[in-house]
Amino acid sequence: MASNVAKLNLTGDALTPGAQRSWWLREALASDPGAECPPLQMNLNADVVIVGGGFTGLWTAYYLSSANPSLGIAVLEEDICGGGPSGRNGGFASGWWDELDGLVALYGCEGAVRACRAISRSIDLIGHVCATHRIDAWYAKAGYVYAATAEQHYEVCAQMVEAAREAGAPEEMQPLTAREVRARCDSPAFSGGAFMRDGASVHPARLARGLRRVLLERGVRIHEGTRVERFENGAPATAITPRGTVRARQAVIAINAWATGWPSLSRRLVAWSSYMILTAPAPEHVAAIGWTGGELVSDLRTSVRYFRTTRDGRIAFGGGGGRAKTSIGKAFTHDMRAVVEAAEGFRLLFPTFADVPIVDAWGGPIDVSPTHLPAFGSLLPNVHYALGYTGNGVAPSNLAGRVLADLVTGADSEEVRLPMVNSPSRAFPPQPFRALGAALVRRAIIAKDTAEERGRRPNPLANAIARLPRKLGYMLGP
Ligand SMILES: Cc1cc2nc3c(=O)[nH]c(=O)nc-3n(C[C@H](O)[C@H](O)[C@H](O)COP(=O)(O)OP(=O)(O)OC[C@H]3O[C@@H](n4cnc5c(N)ncnc54)[C@H](O)[C@@H]3O)c2cc1C
Repeated sequence: MASNVAKLNLTGDALTPGAQRSWWLREALASDPGAECPPLQMNLNADVVIVGGGFTGLWTAYYLSSANPSLGIAVLEEDICGGGPSGRNGGFASGWWDELDGLVALYGCEGAVRACRAISRSIDLIGHVCATHRIDAWYAKAGYVYAATAEQHYEVCAQMVEAAREAGAPEEMQPLTAREVRARCDSPAFSGGAFMRDGASVHPARLARGLRRVLLERGVRIHEGTRVERFENGAPATAITPRGTVRARQAVIAINAWATGWPSLSRRLVAWSSYMILTAPAPEHVAAIGWTGGELVSDLRTSVRYFRTTRDGRIAFGGGGGRAKTSIGKAFTHDMRAVVEAAEGFRLLFPTFADVPIVDAWGGPIDVSPTHLPAFGSLLPNVHYALGYTGNGVAPSNLAGRVLADLVTGADSEEVRLPMVNSPSRAFPPQPFRALGAALVRRAIIAKDTAEERGRRPNPLANAIARLPRKLGYMLGP
């Protein structure tokens, strides 16, 4: 490992993942630490209690307080708002047109297109909210480039383009030649691709912290450092924390991958780890590969690698190994092996950055759902949830916020009539099969992806295991 670290030019905070917060969150806190939100130290009554202060919880509070400014809302966050994946992700607010095949299989063509349009609206709404409330979250809508790095990916691109055409939205997904991909972001590994216009980059932690600021200005109670240790259903619902209790008419559970420990939700997800690395500023290197348009870019591996630029000319790059685990622990934040795997991917795709050090790295859990898509709904008439983003929650969590706010207020809106709201959900197998199966499939997918990228035939066993979830009816894997 040590020789890999030196060869990959990993330095500084990249060597201590988990010891410090993500670079995004440190940057956002340095720019504006925000007002104090002390832990809950009393018992209180509220109209709505929201468990979790990531994007889902914050957007829900945002839309609830927009709909009814006098509503008593309490957000309870174990860490700080944005301390979870919402302040650690790649900042890809991306559309769902690449998910059309799965969406059509689940909801039919009309439902699938409505879902895609709802996400498109969320991407625009994120920009609109940032502009309205002066949240400087580096929002830039420049679209999304899918870059093929293996022959098998041409077929994937062709299918995405065809699916958009068949759905009556050909403008949403366009084919790109190798030359067109490399004109936007030049890597010798890119040999073709596709372009989805629905894609905006954000600084995720500035967005989370900015929403927190707006909510405080609106009088929403936010208690950080406040873990909900027990939750009692009923009317009112009761959230019990170490030094206080909130009783509320309505409750929203917005805890993402931590739902693996929430009995009524645990079988709806598995938690996988995901890691990102960040280069030192190198604007001249970025300009030299022509990547000045701000596009989001990813490859087309099943274990996807995704990358974007920052305002100060860095590349933030995600992907690589990742582990599946039963509970959220240090494997999701402190895994140097996963950092090395992400760095290897970066060095492979961007050889002209060899002398640019990788100066930061961090990880977090993603909540993988059986459908590869999130589900929103109500567990009880007064307890609502959103989860299952499967590593793609920046734009969908805005939609979740709109849906959950309407479920709480009982509004009969277009949002609550979307097909993924209260749709029947598939469960994963019980433990320990869930975690063991997820870990095995994850490794098999990576082995298959790596073989394909190197122009080799995947090992038949790894290939069969990678394809097993689909055979069992889960919309995961190749
Ligand atoms: C490395 C990485 C990169 C990613 N990149 C992208 C990307 O580029 N684009 C994209 O769309 N998505 C991406 N994602 C996924 C995206 O970050 C998530 O889907 C999204 O942030 C989910 O928001 P959330 O509010 O539901 O969850 P979270 O941000 O996880 O918030 C949940 C919160 O609940 C809190 N909590 C949990 N249990 C309790 C409890 N008992 N009491 C109180 N609080 C509790 C947690 O501390 C946490 O802050 C990435 C994820 C990771 C880890």
